[in-house]
Amino acid sequence: MTKKQKKVLFRIIIAAVLAAACYFIPIENPYLRLAVFMVPYLIIGYDILRKAILGVVHGEVFDENFLMAAATVGAIILGEYVEGVAVMLFYQIGELFQSYAVGKSRKNISQLMDIRPDYANMEVDGKVEQVDPDEVGIGTIILVQPGEKVPIDGVVTQGSASLNTSALTGESLPREVGEGDEVISGCVNMSGVLRIRTTREFGESTVSKILELVENSSMKKSRSENFITRFARYYTPAVCYGALALALLPPIIHLILGQEPYWSLWVTRALTTLVISCPCALVISIPLSFFGGIGGASAQGILVKGSNYLEALSETRYVVCDKTGTLTKGVFEVTCQEAAEGFQETEVLEAAACAESYSNHPISKSLREAYGREIDRARVNDVEEISGHGVCARVDGRMVAAGNRKLMERLQITPVEPSKTGTEVHVAIDGRYAGYILISDVVKPGAREAVARLKRAGVKEVVMLTGDGKPVAEAVALELGVDVVKSELLPADKVTEVERLLAEKGKKEKLAFVGDGINDAPVLSRADLGIAMGAFGSDAAIEAADIVLMDDDPAKIALAMQISRKTLGIVHQNIVFALAIKFSCLILGAFGVVGMWWAIFADVGVMILAVLNATRALTFHKK
Ligand code: ADP
Ligand code: MG
Repeated sequence: MTKKQKKVLFRIIIAAVLAAACYFIPIENPYLRLAVFMVPYLIIGYDILRKAILGVVHGEVFDENFLMAAATVGAIILGEYVEGVAVMLFYQIGELFQSYAVGKSRKNISQLMDIRPDYANMEVDGKVEQVDPDEVGIGTIILVQPGEKVPIDGVVTQGSASLNTSALTGESLPREVGEGDEVISGCVNMSGVLRIRTTREFGESTVSKILELVENSSMKKSRSENFITRFARYYTPAVCYGALALALLPPIIHLILGQEPYWSLWVTRALTTLVISCPCALVISIPLSFFGGIGGASAQGILVKGSNYLEALSETRYVVCDKTGTLTKGVFEVTCQEAAEGFQETEVLEAAACAESYSNHPISKSLREAYGREIDRARVNDVEEISGHGVCARVDGRMVAAGNRKLMERLQITPVEPSKTGTEVHVAIDGRYAGYILISDVVKPGAREAVARLKRAGVKEVVMLTGDGKPVAEAVALELGVDVVKSELLPADKVTEVERLLAEKGKKEKLAFVGDGINDAPVLSRADLGIAMGAFGSDAAIEAADIVLMDDDPAKIALAMQISRKTLGIVHQNIVFALAIKFSCLILGAFGVVGMWWAIFADVGVMILAVLNATRALTFHKK
């Protein structure tokens, strides 16, 4: 509990004790009785009264403070002191509870996202010094000891260790890293000492990006939140005028008809409706639910950039996936090689690997790995990467082209037909066909199950788009059980495909595109919902996407949908529950069936229940 909360709690206890005392001690003198009751009333209500008066002065009359002030002052004028004090007292209890719940969710989220490093160990003159991560420049060697967080993204230059990435990815399995491996900030070193050469500044590192993203996520409001804000703007004044009408009209009508007006009866009923209709249960519990949902998702390694995206996720009916790196591992192995007349197999692989040395496409990485030797980049220049085709580069003065069939057609070279299926990398050297390398990718272990889970989560169609050749695409599609597959697409064709699907789908249905950001950033931003895989991969994806899956696991898509469904479910429950109770109590109150004590329940009780329900959004248990 914070200091402020403790102070409120203290006031609540004092006021409750005093009010009880005033109630049980019989005081005959009415003025003395009023004076005595004013003590607990002011102790518990002075700040609400002050805010209500300030609101009136500033022209923003109708808010919860005004409702409470009007209701309690009215009750006191009618001589119902106990009720007046009780309304304030319970309202404060509700407020205290709510601020405690919000604080607790905040703390939970920051604990879940406890990835901000406090320092970096820099080696200066052979001595280790702790410095602010902000001060470490690119290319500095930093030291990360067991138990410490990796403060800045970089490459391991010495040592090996297993890293706990769970704060980032929600994945409990550690990642083994050794010399030459990239490490991202936010992981916790669990074993050996690592020397890391930083490749980014702290502000550009993964940790900073993620924290920024989570912190800004509450800015993008969902429809439900906007609805409640708008609703409260009209609702509260409407309630106030309604109460005024209830207090005035029936007595006036009675008077006109020459009957007894029963002023105090109708004023009491009006005050009861004021307390009942306080909208705080909705105003607080709905943003809190989204906040919890986003926080709960982060704990699973799913970063959602705004409540609106969490909402859209629950309405997703079409999921379009990229193949390479999204559904498949994107780690290709060379399965077959053939050189054309006049060329050697090793020569072809070397030429391809060199030409690819600047690319970060999964294919190029695999070719470099298959080649296995260090590549002197000075040998390579004039590199041109043609997305969806391949690369052209000058290697040792010879013009090398490596890519798919489309690339060869562009260069007016006729490739041979490989004997097996696989992703084909054809190589041409100095305008002559030099041979092909056949590589094969493997489907990610959980991919088939991930597709099945999407279908179970209510997705109508899972579509796979790929730039790869048809035979490979179809084999993968069959293995995974996707509904539709489109192959040999250029990045621009993927946009066209997605646009076609966007035009076909129903208005309320949302389309999500899942990609790894390599060659698909334009589609990520075009879809209703862009989901990027693997923050370990490309920055462009994190920028362009609305949701980022920290690890490469496609099963997280369905998990994210489940979390969003649960959150939206809670939001709807709260809206329906709060409005139903309030409206029924309102009607009963207007007819005098229920009195002030029920009103207190309809206000504070409903708010506490709604907030308790909202905090459920934070916890998500994998089924
Ligand atoms: P996907 O849609 O499967 O993610 P991309 O759009 O990234 O694939 O690439 C489509 C195709 O273009 C690849 O299957 C490959 O044939 C070719 N290609 C793209 N970039 C390269 C490259 N750097 N080297 C070789 N081939 C490439
Ligand atoms: Mg791709």
